[in-house]
Amino acid sequence: MKIYNTLSRQKEEFIPVEAGKVKMYNCGPTVYNYFHIGNARNLVVFDVIRRYFQFRGYEVSYAQNITDIDDKIIAQSITEGIPTDEVTRKYITAFLEDLDKLDVNPPDYQPRATQYISQMINFIRALEEKGYAYEAEGDVYFAVEKFAAYGKLSGKKLVDLKVGARVEENEQKRYPFDFTLWKKAKPGEPKWQSPWGEGRPGWHTECVVMSRDLLGETFDIHGGGNDLVFPHHENEIAQGEAYCGHPTVNYWLHNGFLNIEGEKMSKSAGNFFIARDVLQKYPAEAIRYFFLSKHYRSPIDFNEEIIQQSLAAVKTLYSALKDVDYLNQQDLPEYSEAQQKLKEQFLDVMDDDFNTARAIALLFEAGKEARNKDNSEEDRLRFARLLVELGSVLGFFRNLAEKLSAGEDISGKTASLIELLLTYRQDFKKEKNWQWADKIRNDLKELGINLKDTPQGTEWGIDENAKV
Ligand code: AMP
Ligand code: ZN
Repeated sequence: MKIYNTLSRQKEEFIPVEAGKVKMYNCGPTVYNYFHIGNARNLVVFDVIRRYFQFRGYEVSYAQNITDIDDKIIAQSITEGIPTDEVTRKYITAFLEDLDKLDVNPPDYQPRATQYISQMINFIRALEEKGYAYEAEGDVYFAVEKFAAYGKLSGKKLVDLKVGARVEENEQKRYPFDFTLWKKAKPGEPKWQSPWGEGRPGWHTECVVMSRDLLGETFDIHGGGNDLVFPHHENEIAQGEAYCGHPTVNYWLHNGFLNIEGEKMSKSAGNFFIARDVLQKYPAEAIRYFFLSKHYRSPIDFNEEIIQQSLAAVKTLYSALKDVDYLNQQDLPEYSEAQQKLKEQFLDVMDDDFNTARAIALLFEAGKEARNKDNSEEDRLRFARLLVELGSVLGFFRNLAEKLSAGEDISGKTASLIELLLTYRQDFKKEKNWQWADKIRNDLKELGINLKDTPQGTEWGIDENAKV
């Protein structure tokens, strides 16, 4: 397998630290709000990378942190008028719900920064003892000039950084790019006792300490979005290597941005769509398709039209499975040469730095052959089986049986909304308000949803063309 390493700026052969095992860490959310659809890209990309390693037979340990102490969380607690731990509880719950709605498999580890404070304090003390860190009035900084390789991930040089770059001005720092390891608490802020007084750890220290603790001193893959290359990951490298004296991560992987009209989607720019809102409107698979139809390192532009197109594409894949009545097949035939060949092609493109865009094209080929009436019944089933096997590696077809069975739309949300309308219609009927009861029936019909009143209650079904 070849994977692109941001550190070397080229594709490299993947050689795990321990044969047959992959240890990977991905920078997770700061839980001060709902995550947006750009963050969702990161979650889905690393979900697929993990699934593919598993498909390749590796035993994967996947850690994704939750940053539950941060300036933004403190600011949000003031905005919402609730304590910081209530803010984080609320958004961690939402995060886990949305992860599930996105069909992302939960990571093996979801460490929270506040669970690792003592390890972080010990780590910072060790850096201090080694001469890489210094204290200034209750804050502790990392002295970047002490770490000769500083800038090796981002390609930035300290001399360039001095000029024009955006740095937080702070007179306590010896050098503008020194970064905070420990931050002194202001009155009223959450705090922990430390050798430097009351305060909290810096974000860059959180990830380096938690990844070490869970995955070991040297692990295989560290991921995140492109925006994290500098300064976050650069600073993680500086701390990790200063602490151990050797590289601690072998491959650095970064997903490209999800943009809106060419601009990176971000909370601070205000050009964002909350993932849970988009998931109310569109099934997770349409969103996943949109993400995976481009290479994970390329930028992608988000708009409604492209999600509609992605939804239509997903429906086409499902239609192949319906055509062969996949659900009612007891024994699916073994692959013959044609499916083996397609599967090998899939492995080839995915082995080439996870080229999901080309992998999706192969899913379509399998789907096309499954629908092709010129093929034998057996062959069509073989291709359908291949479609499900490979599609599942990319995270499609979760709860396939439910989705393919009659009356089920791929979006559970849609189903619940229809059920809700049916209870309203039932109430109108009880009140003999036929006008509104009929209106609900007719409006649903226009959307391609047919109602049938039976002695047991009202059943609903989706018009074949409207159904996924
Ligand atoms: P944050 O909560 O902002 O730290 O972001 C969580 C993860 O999402 C990080 O890995 C970010 O790099 C990634 N991310 C943030 N914005 C975008 C975006 N617009 N496109 C793709 N990834 C993003
Ligand atoms: Zn991180």
